[in-house]
Amino acid sequence: MTDKLRQDSQAGSGCVKWEELPVYLNADIIVCGGGSAGAFAAMAAAKEGRDVLLVESEGYLGGSAVGALVMPYMTVRVPGEPRCSYLHRELDRRIQEYHKEKHIPNSSDPVIHGILLEQMCQESGVKILFHAKVCGVDRQEGSIRAIAVACKDGIRKIAGKIFIDGTGDGSLAVLAGAGYEAGHPKTGVNQPMSLRYIIDGVDKAPLGEFLDSLGDPDNARSGKAGGGLFGCVVARKDSALKPIFRQAVEKGDLDEQSMAYWTMFEIPGRGDAVAFNNPEFFDLTDACDPLQLTELMMRGRAFIYRELMFYKKYFPGFTNAYISNISLVPGIRESRRIHTKYELTAADVLGQRKFEGCISQCNYPVDVHGGERLFQDDLPEGNPEKPWYEIPYDCLVSADLDNLLVAGRCIGADFVAQSSIRIQICCHSMGEAAGTAAAICLEESKLPGELNGAEVSGRMKQRGADFL
Ligand SMILES: Cc1cc2nc3c(=O)[nH]c(=O)nc-3n(C[C@H](O)[C@H](O)[C@H](O)COP(=O)(O)OP(=O)(O)OC[C@H]3O[C@@H](n4cnc5c(N)ncnc54)[C@H](O)[C@@H]3O)c2cc1C
Repeated sequence: MTDKLRQDSQAGSGCVKWEELPVYLNADIIVCGGGSAGAFAAMAAAKEGRDVLLVESEGYLGGSAVGALVMPYMTVRVPGEPRCSYLHRELDRRIQEYHKEKHIPNSSDPVIHGILLEQMCQESGVKILFHAKVCGVDRQEGSIRAIAVACKDGIRKIAGKIFIDGTGDGSLAVLAGAGYEAGHPKTGVNQPMSLRYIIDGVDKAPLGEFLDSLGDPDNARSGKAGGGLFGCVVARKDSALKPIFRQAVEKGDLDEQSMAYWTMFEIPGRGDAVAFNNPEFFDLTDACDPLQLTELMMRGRAFIYRELMFYKKYFPGFTNAYISNISLVPGIRESRRIHTKYELTAADVLGQRKFEGCISQCNYPVDVHGGERLFQDDLPEGNPEKPWYEIPYDCLVSADLDNLLVAGRCIGADFVAQSSIRIQICCHSMGEAAGTAAAICLEESKLPGELNGAEVSGRMKQRGADFL
């Protein structure tokens, strides 16, 4: 790849029509976005022996899990877990092997997560192009022929046969003209965005003792009993930590908004570090608006600095603490949901509907942040013998473009259903399914819409996915 990159310097400047540019790279399967879904899609297709190019706008794999510091990876909450894709099991095995006795189930150091994912992609034979942002599509008669990517030296053209959108925002699909939904059906408002961070140099012994002394292990605990140190303050429920936050707000040491959603937890293997799933901004929700993204990064960093000062003043153990990581990218829960052959609904999720040709099984609760129902936490109910819902393959098949599959948080799902299916373990399965399907399409000279989902899940199972 590197030699090829050096040889070819014919990138388009702003004055050149990119459609007229020579093809810079091509592959049978082009995966756009190397996050939880995209990286898995690329690996699955490569494992099927296909020529795969993974195009990623940043300089690492893992997307939100790595760049937005999103951890832990939730479980599907189905009896007999993990109920996962075969590639997830392998990633989890490598993560737990790395962390050994310091491990916390389903959690990883985000940097290690990214390195292991990259290792797995390379071993699978995936070609990777970093720092290339998809910014245009050559669409002809309902098919994508090529994409334009913005690189440092200009616009370049990449051609392929089957395309997979793993951008999280459905950017490839939308650039190609696909229809989509966004936000709450009544208000159009998306879920809130966050900017997560990590603080190092924390003396966890006095901090843990202090948390335990509050006598509210659900919301404040040292983790001595297992599972790691934890703290939580959210608007909808009581927490013994709340009065401390309230006092800080009243004294002008903290913004009121910091009380709306705040969680603190440990990272396996990082002895003196704690991670935070906040600040969360209920007025910054549109992940496709560059001005909101800019405000999120700037306001988020200011909040983080203020929160560090708050910890130093109000909690033991933070005297020598410092901010070691701030998310490189915004934390996006939900943006666009692409029109697909089938749209998963709230009724499907809450009614634990089963589908022939399911590519993921999950029982994670509905998790809508924001508004009055900050964390809805509605648990699916229904069949006690099979307590899970299923995602069918058709949720990945573009309704508008013949050779496009989507995977990850932007698949065809309504607002409520999306809030459950977006967890990483499901995105891994969706990616694995999309990559497997793309490979089968090429094998059988079919389009994604002509495939039977059962064939896709059957192939995944053959490779070790453990759906029932
Ligand atoms: C604050 C927050 C907390 C969360 N908490 C949890 C949790 O505790 N556990 C859990 O399991 N899940 C959690 N989630 C959900 C989960 O992390 C995401 O839904 C999931 O990671 C999405 O995966 P994805 O592959 O769809 O998108 P991403 O992982 O975001 O990957 C998209 C990739 O596409 C790339 N990309 C975007 N646009 C382009 C383009 N135009 N060209 C090329 N590349 C592009 C991006 O750089 C990125 O690498 C949380 C999410 C957020 C935001």
